[in-house]
Amino acid sequence: MIRQQLAALLVAAALLPAFAPVAVAENNTISSFRVIASPFTSDDVSTRHAAGIRLTMARGAIVTLTIDQPGGAVVRRLASGDQLAAGNYSWAWAGADDGGALMPDGDYVAHLVVQNGLGSDSRTRSLRKGMPPIYPANPGAITILINPGHGGINTGAATKKVTEKFLNLDIGLRLQRLLVAAGVNVVMTRTTDVHIPDPEFDVNGDGVIGPTKPGGDDWDGLAYRIDMGNEARADLHIFNHNNGAGCRCRRGTMTFTGLQRSWTPEGTAFATYVQAQQINQLDTFRSDTYYPIDWGVRNGRAFYTLSPYSLTVPTPPLEPRPALQPTVLTESLYVSDPIERGLLMQPIAREAIAIGMYLGIRDYLATRDYGIRYSVVDAPATVPVNGAADYQLQVTNTGNQTSSGWKLQLHSVPAVPFYDGSEAIGDLMGSVAIPDGLAPGQTTTLTVHAVAPPASGGWLVKGDVFIGGAERPYLSQRGVVALQVPLTTEP
Ligand SMILES: [Zn+2]
Repeated sequence: MIRQQLAALLVAAALLPAFAPVAVAENNTISSFRVIASPFTSDDVSTRHAAGIRLTMARGAIVTLTIDQPGGAVVRRLASGDQLAAGNYSWAWAGADDGGALMPDGDYVAHLVVQNGLGSDSRTRSLRKGMPPIYPANPGAITILINPGHGGINTGAATKKVTEKFLNLDIGLRLQRLLVAAGVNVVMTRTTDVHIPDPEFDVNGDGVIGPTKPGGDDWDGLAYRIDMGNEARADLHIFNHNNGAGCRCRRGTMTFTGLQRSWTPEGTAFATYVQAQQINQLDTFRSDTYYPIDWGVRNGRAFYTLSPYSLTVPTPPLEPRPALQPTVLTESLYVSDPIERGLLMQPIAREAIAIGMYLGIRDYLATRDYGIRYSVVDAPATVPVNGAADYQLQVTNTGNQTSSGWKLQLHSVPAVPFYDGSEAIGDLMGSVAIPDGLAPGQTTTLTVHAVAPPASGGWLVKGDVFIGGAERPYLSQRGVVALQVPLTTEP
């Protein structure tokens, strides 16, 4: 029906002679009408969780601008028949109705009507009040590691008494608040100004404990942060920093990820979303002096947290347990640049950076193919070599693909301290089919009838999902952290 009408219109347009007078004057008063950057940006610094609306008019008009329910009912009148001259206008909607009562979070419409001698014209733009949900199919099955860079004796970049470690912590805590409000699990590597681990210990086994001076050896701290994400089997790891340079010559925003990891495709996607959403947010602080510089996604091979598994690299000493999930290292702004430092000193800019990270996490989780949350219902601790070992495991699909031909498998690797970061698949102990049709967000409980390894000793039993295919057939190779359960075998 609609297609037929469109076809009729196209025919009519095609038949119209080029010199035919236009019957109704076209009203080109509206040059542009938009909700800027993201649904949350606003010139109203009292609340970041509001919509900024921008109008450019080529000529004067009587303007009516309302926020409507998607069904059409007017919620708030921002302009009611105001006579406005040609030019640029902006409004902010902080989420209340005309009576001042806060509206529920959700989808709304900005509805513009202009009227002048050329007639009337109207536009609508959708906007959202409040933060959009994260993985709405099952937010409680998602875990995010927030890892604010530096802390304690390790200050990070510092210029004119503005110190990176405090900025990173503040942004990390803001991101934590947003994610917790969305029903997502958050693991923080630190929530105060401490050096990690607190108290210090020899995490990597190199005989040296922690840094003794600012900027000193931090391999223990970095290894401990990675361990926290791996042990929590976090879906994503965000290592948030701000940048510094010895001159005033550098500024801008960049996001690093690991380009030599099995999860590099996923890490690159995650980093791309986080970078884009931060730039969107920072763009709303455009002024005569500030504009965001987008340095994009970069190879973080120089960063310990993003480097691949190795037991042989002499410096840094030992990398036995690299991050097993898509990990990004963010460098939001330069502390050393006077303009960007000025932004970082404003709470509203730090909130915007946290919102950018939140939206990047949201975008990644809305688009990733695979995710699994494992939990142990019942597992043996000690069994005879070659003995029967039944594991009852719960698996929750946290990706966006529905299961089809997937298998839950258990493999053994020799026990290692902490979590095994080698990504070794190990020796097969048992396998069970995951029922087809397990939709995003759904959970099932399965029993794997496994056989213990043929030698006595300590083992890690890895729970992994096999999806098949030529490349990366196991989900642990796609940044989905395998379950690791200790097992002892006796002669
Ligand atoms: Zn840093």
